[in-house]
Amino acid sequence: MSPTSSGRPPDDSALDPSPGTIREMGMEAVEWVAAYHGSIRDRPVAPRTSAAALKDLLAEPLPVQGRDFSHLLDVFRDVIVPGSRHNGHPRFFGYVSAPGTAVASVADFLASALNANLPAWRSAPAPTELEHVAIDWIKEALGCVPTAGGLFMSGGSMANFAALAAARHRHCGDVVASHGVSAHPRPLRIYASQEAHHSIHKAAALLGIGRGNVREVALDARFRMDVNDLVRKIEEDRAAGADPFCVVASAGTVGTGAVDPLTEIAATAKRYGLWMHVDACYGGFARLAPSARPLFDGLSEADSIALDPHKWLYLPADCGCLIYRDPEAARAAFALGADYTRVMQTEPAEAFTFWDYGPDLSRRFRALKVWMVLAHAGSQAVGEAIESNLDCARYLAELVDASDDFELLSPVELSIFCFRYLPPAARTGPGSGADAQELDRVNQRILVSLQESGSSYLSNATINGRFALRGCVLNYRTTRKDMEILLDDVRRAAEQVPGATD
Ligand SMILES: *Cc1c(COP(=O)(O)O)cnc(C)c1O
Repeated sequence: MSPTSSGRPPDDSALDPSPGTIREMGMEAVEWVAAYHGSIRDRPVAPRTSAAALKDLLAEPLPVQGRDFSHLLDVFRDVIVPGSRHNGHPRFFGYVSAPGTAVASVADFLASALNANLPAWRSAPAPTELEHVAIDWIKEALGCVPTAGGLFMSGGSMANFAALAAARHRHCGDVVASHGVSAHPRPLRIYASQEAHHSIHKAAALLGIGRGNVREVALDARFRMDVNDLVRKIEEDRAAGADPFCVVASAGTVGTGAVDPLTEIAATAKRYGLWMHVDACYGGFARLAPSARPLFDGLSEADSIALDPHKWLYLPADCGCLIYRDPEAARAAFALGADYTRVMQTEPAEAFTFWDYGPDLSRRFRALKVWMVLAHAGSQAVGEAIESNLDCARYLAELVDASDDFELLSPVELSIFCFRYLPPAARTGPGSGADAQELDRVNQRILVSLQESGSSYLSNATINGRFALRGCVLNYRTTRKDMEILLDDVRRAAEQVPGATD
């Protein structure tokens, strides 16, 4: 064989490169990673680009002949990176988005290189044991009972889905698993607050329970589930012949960061025999921060807890997590008996199969990045970073309260803040006659202008029917100074909106 056009030695193919070639590829990529982490603060938070412009740069017919890795890395550096939003930027406050950490990206690389697949212990003995260790650490961080168990999944939506599947199975048994929900005599009912994440409704739809059977429980003044309304709705439904079986509490709503009253909800769940699921995808890890810890009293009583390590454990996507108080209850919902999955091992730990506890068969080695971040940083440093995020949100609230051109629209419970800009005519206080629709319109335009500025990035929420600028601090790089810059950026964005500053 003659050397290829790329100059690779003849024993070196694209599918099976030599160790020397792998080393070169890795060095080039790692150089980029190091430079990226070192310069992320200086980049525009979000790109100004369009789908058409990106297609123009990227779309092409399937390449028949291969090309050099360095060419592909050029496309990554020159097109993908500038065309990306930088979720690790200290003033990216949109949605609920983690910065990622360098050690976790190394872990993801190593996990892919080892190519461990974790359907069961026998498929990946040490990776499986490491997943158990990482899950145990998470249980400890949350204060779960030692007999709880769990596993990693693609994300919080999947964790919520699997939890509701387990809840449905405990209540309905094999009849529904075999014959579908129509075999259940009465309409099933799930309870969740009006601020619950839409993945709950989606799961109800996918499980055949129906979105319409998710009863939306009213909120208290802090946007938390009103437990009196929960009880009222359960009683109402029972009297009407429906079948309440599950309550979903939020431990950190995505709108305002509210943590539902978990202890009271647990007592209500017990009283009515409901499965208690907690959607703690955003807030759960805040239990590591001393100032937030009391909010999570009652969490350990939940039958299941959905979490997103790719949020407040600062991990890159994807990594969701589901903890079951009684793993055996979940097992009944997911166990399958196909011959090709039969396990011959007799030692229970070695016969362990993840597929009995969730919908997935093949599974990435996500545990490696969870383990590496927690073992490398330690829970104290993670807790301190979360505490600092909470402090930044509270500081923003103080700045807003002290200003006359902004107002807070919801209390800061964790690290989410919702506020709006007030044009001069609206600053004389409540009843100033400012038109509510006009305020919505001005703030919507401010948001667009801010997102285009590239210096700070917020998303939005609807609070009591009004448009809010919404931010979430979820980044160990963010400082109090960034919160000051954010407000200045919003003021500058307001200057771009006709009629907003005069
Ligand atoms: C992010 C989030 C979800 C969905 O999680 P994904 O990982 O995006 O699928 C569900 N609930 C809450 C409260 C969240 O913050």
